[in-house]
Amino acid sequence: MKKIALLIAAVVLILAIIVVSKTITNSPGAHQKSTTLEILPTEAIAHMSQAIQIKTETPNDAYEFDTATFFAYRKFIEKAYPLVHKNLPRTVIDSFNYVYEWKGTDTSILPMVLMAHYDVVPVEASAVKLWHAVPYGGEVKDGYIWGRGVLDDKSSMISILEAAELQLAKGFQPKQTILLCFGADEESSGNGATAVVKYFKSKNKRFDLVVDEGGEISTEDMKDIKRPIASIGVGEKGYVTLILTAQKAGGHSSIPGKTTVIDILSKGLYQLREKQMPAKLIPPIKAYLERVSGYTENFGKKMALSNLWLFEKQVLNNLSESPSSNALIRTTIVPTIINSGVRDNVIPTFATAYVNSRILPGESQKDVYNFVEKTINDTNIKITYYHNYSTMPSPTTDINSKAFQRVETVINAIVDDVIVAPMLMVGATDSRNYREISDGVVNFTPITNAKGYHGIDERLMVSDFQKCINFYSLLIQGSK
Ligand SMILES: [Zn+2]
Repeated sequence: MKKIALLIAAVVLILAIIVVSKTITNSPGAHQKSTTLEILPTEAIAHMSQAIQIKTETPNDAYEFDTATFFAYRKFIEKAYPLVHKNLPRTVIDSFNYVYEWKGTDTSILPMVLMAHYDVVPVEASAVKLWHAVPYGGEVKDGYIWGRGVLDDKSSMISILEAAELQLAKGFQPKQTILLCFGADEESSGNGATAVVKYFKSKNKRFDLVVDEGGEISTEDMKDIKRPIASIGVGEKGYVTLILTAQKAGGHSSIPGKTTVIDILSKGLYQLREKQMPAKLIPPIKAYLERVSGYTENFGKKMALSNLWLFEKQVLNNLSESPSSNALIRTTIVPTIINSGVRDNVIPTFATAYVNSRILPGESQKDVYNFVEKTINDTNIKITYYHNYSTMPSPTTDINSKAFQRVETVINAIVDDVIVAPMLMVGATDSRNYREISDGVVNFTPITNAKGYHGIDERLMVSDFQKCINFYSLLIQGSK
């Protein structure tokens, strides 16, 4: 007995030594200084301001598409970026999606794609009074450029064009072909990007690096880490919606039975909200935690993150606490539409609910279906797929790939003391289409703690705008 107790004590001691030594040796990386940023081209702010003033809103209905505005935007970029338009042949796909080709001297290298979209979501009429600037005014004040689309995603498009114009003016000639791809309907159907990728596929094109919007820089994600974290999106969650239908004869509300369709459906939805799909640490999220682990000033957290082999379960429980981190570790399921009843004195015969799910890489639509069926466990509820739109989770870009590392190097060159880490995209972007024709798709724009996406007071710090232009300039220069 005593021997066993001694043995257990020895094992615990050894484990404790391993855990503590892994924690204290996991020290933060050395301070690193960015190279001096090139100054903002004089015209850049005026160009961004003009870009915002052209109201390229994405309509709810394709028939409401305002062609004149999109033509005006085309005229604007042609005028603002004369060297791009003189030197890079442009292909127009489906009216307003553009591909500019900057031919490299070595066609044996797979090209690089810098992409963005210039359609914007509408501004809610009732929310205009809450803005601190005119939504389509393109005002510059308090160190920011204000307006709908300045972040999402004209920041990328205008910065790419500024960088290209700048490099062309310097006589830069890339070795690797660079394609600049701009979409006009990312915020609605995304059909433009699908058509562009179809065009590339018809020409058997493949790309070694594709950079799109998505990941950003944050100093707020982790309060106990003082350095900025640049998250590079390396994959996207999948998407599916299921329809749950309960059916049972209704009748007069003065003589209700024991259960109605509304009771049946409510119970099913309640169970679905009570139980979540299992939490998992997929490779990019694990790599993210490992990369930031050495920088936390919270010893307990540092110990857990430095020893995921032992504390993975506790870390997952912790990440489940906040909606944004919970979305990174599991397939989420949430009801979004509910329908039943026609009159206040009639018990309905049908009740339906739509539940939307965002699927973690490694899982599928079928896994979601099976989970919902098993959790509800009620044959009175029929489950069907809602086929308006569904996607599988994307493959993820390897963080040891040249594509990831190239973007990482550029981020290090423009941000002091930055921790670069991979991230999973919980929403969808145009670049998901490109994963078919490239193993190097990454999502990143060097914007810090961005505020106002799709909401009020969308604004871009002028200093971030400068970083964005430098980011694309360095990527372009890296194609030498
Ligand atoms: Zn966007």
